[in-house]
Amino acid sequence: MSKATTIAIDGPAASGKSTIGQLLAEKLGYLYLDTGAMYRAVALAALKRGIDIDDEESVSRLAEAIDLEILPVHSDSDGRQYTVMLDGEDVTWQIRSPEVNSVVSHVAAYRKVREAMTRLQRAIGRRGKVVMVGRDIGTVVMPDADLKIYLDASVEERARRRYRELLERGESVRFGEVVDQIRKRDSLDSRRSLAPLRPADDAVIIDTTDMDIEDVLDRALELALDP
Ligand code: C5P
Repeated sequence: MSKATTIAIDGPAASGKSTIGQLLAEKLGYLYLDTGAMYRAVALAALKRGIDIDDEESVSRLAEAIDLEILPVHSDSDGRQYTVMLDGEDVTWQIRSPEVNSVVSHVAAYRKVREAMTRLQRAIGRRGKVVMVGRDIGTVVMPDADLKIYLDASVEERARRRYRELLERGESVRFGEVVDQIRKRDSLDSRRSLAPLRPADDAVIIDTTDMDIEDVLDRALELALDP
């Protein structure tokens, strides 16, 4: 088979999906789409407007109405992978806040929220030459993707990676808190009834616990060139 033009990368929080997804897209000259950022933007919009996160109907209506754009960055000024615009405001860093972390998986479990986001993601996927990263890309959003990769790593290793990232961004957190948050999100994401986190039957599973980024990227690239 020739080179994969639609690539799905799924996996739990901090499994390395975004790092690998972006590098792989860069190598191949494809668009990189981090679908987690979209759910985060919906969660942030709800927080900003004071909408009760448990109010499924209001959150759903919001998800259908927000003006959300994910734009590529040309000059990498502050380490961002892309720019997220929510109703005309640059919220690239706000969507990474602890407040958003703690509610995003609740918002992402709502059917109409998922339908709205999935619709946008599929429209982008149909254009091809895309590396799309998330939880349900290989199972729901692009079940016909040319290549599906599922990245995994132990919860301790994932927490260490996320902790380092947060410290580098100057945030003060305790390691234990990061472990707890990741566990909680994993549990919500994999136990929900709609589009739960799981590898597609035909996904290539890569356990990155003892691998460095270059090794994972080499493997992903090898798969992309000969899926
Ligand atoms: O990938 P990231 O950690 O930024 O995703 C944030 C949250 O968005 C996840 O914990 C999950 O609840 C939700 N999500 C999802 N489906 C996707 C991507 C993210 O439910 N395809």
